[in-house]
Formats: sequence, structure tokens, C-alpha cells
Amino acid sequence: MDEKTMEKLSSTVLPGKVYDTGRVCPKCGDRIYAFRMWADGKIREFEKPCSCRNEEIKAEDASKKARDREEARQRRLKWAEIPGMFSTATLKGYRRVPGAEKAFEAVKKYLLNRKENFLAGRGLILMGAVGCGKTHLGCAVLNCALEDGYRAAYWNVPQQLEMMMYGHADEAEQVRILDKALLADVLLLDDLGAEKASAWTQKELVVILDERYRENKPTIITSNLMLTDGELRTTCGDRAYSRLCSDHYQAVALTAVDYRRKRE
Ligand SMILES: [Zn+2]
Repeated sequence: MDEKTMEKLSSTVLPGKVYDTGRVCPKCGDRIYAFRMWADGKIREFEKPCSCRNEEIKAEDASKKARDREEARQRRLKWAEIPGMFSTATLKGYRRVPGAEKAFEAVKKYLLNRKENFLAGRGLILMGAVGCGKTHLGCAVLNCALEDGYRAAYWNVPQQLEMMMYGHADEAEQVRILDKALLADVLLLDDLGAEKASAWTQKELVVILDERYRENKPTIITSNLMLTDGELRTTCGDRAYSRLCSDHYQAVALTAVDYRRKRE
């Protein structure tokens, strides 16, 4: 097609003049209108959607949106790396045991105001003996955050620190592990104080706690040790310990007997 013909066509048929095709939709009875425009180097006709086609398009859009949402949810779940046995942990599913009431109520209250708490970067410290259900409560917070669309992550302190140590994983993996702790909108630091302490682990913990503090990102912490216990201070180091004692955290003790053993 030479330039002249193109120009002529452009001025007569184009741009996008709507015309009646003379046809009628057999389903909704609407007259079918169309318009012509340039596409892929030639003039093409496009039909304007009739009423029933419009409804179909709306339904297709809605189902695509639902599919995208579900895909995003699945990606968040995968990224969160919540251990299998806690992947569906909720407050509702928490078997309340004597001694855990205070912690249960604290988590419940925290979750009721989660939007505010997350925004303010407020965290919780759940302290108690092994197996009293701390991890379940912590994961309940994560699962709630995930459902709300937050990027939440589970981080087992002794395991992840060990993985980050030189020689245990390649550099990319070490960065990935640390990044997860820094980037998560909501983070669970599970089993703090159970790590084999060194100047290096203490430094990494301060990096995580400080960065999250600066970015106002909420952190939920579980520990077998009490804040008042000198042992936690010794394991985490003075600097990390002072962060934990700040008003950014609400600490609650669980005195429940072994949750796991009771379940058997
Ligand atoms: Zn129709």
C-alpha cells in the first residue's frame, strides 16, 4: 500500500469511526457495531462488544483477578517457609492449656489490632518452656498476616544462623536467608536463644533486629528463655537484648506444661 492510499484510508475510514454492521447478536438482540483501525500494518475491523459479550468479559476479568490473587497467595505461602505442621496453625486451632491463657489473650488482642500493630512495627515475645505452644501462636500470627496479603516469613533462629555460617551454604543462599529476615513484612524469629552463641551470631541478630526496627517492621519472637533470664542476654548479646527490652515488644510468659506431650 502506497502512502497516498494509506492517507486516503486514514482520513475516510479512520480513526475509529463506529458504524452499524447491520447484524444483530442472536443471544441478546443488540445491534452489532464495529469500527476500523490500523493493526499489524493493515486495516482491521473490530466489533464493539454487545451486552452479553460485555458480561462475559466482566466475568473473565473477575476470574482472572481471582486466579492472580490465588497465585500471589501461593507465592507468599511458599516464600513464608512455615513448617508443615504449622502451615494451617490458627488461634482457633490452638488448644488452650493451663498457663498459656495470658499468651493466648495477648496474641488474640495483637491480631485484633493487627493492621495498627503491623504499621507501628510492634512485636511480641512469647517465652516459655519447650513444647508449650509458642510456635503455634507465632505461626498463627504469620498465617493471619499471609491471608491479609502481607509478606510473612518463618525464621528458625538456630537453624537459619547455622545455615548462614560460612561453609554451610553458598553465598547466594546466605544472602537469601538473611534477606528473608530483613524483608519480611511480618517475621517470626522462632526459638531465639537456642542458637550456639558467638560474636558472629550476636552481630547477625543485631543486624536483623535493628534493620526491622528502623523499617518499622513487626517481629514476633519465641524463646525458651525468659527476658529476665541472664541466659538470654548472654546468648543474644547485650545489644540485641536491649532491643528486645524496648517498648517495641510486648513480652508474655507461657507457663504451660509440654504442649506436644499433652497432645499425644
Ligand atoms: Zn449479545
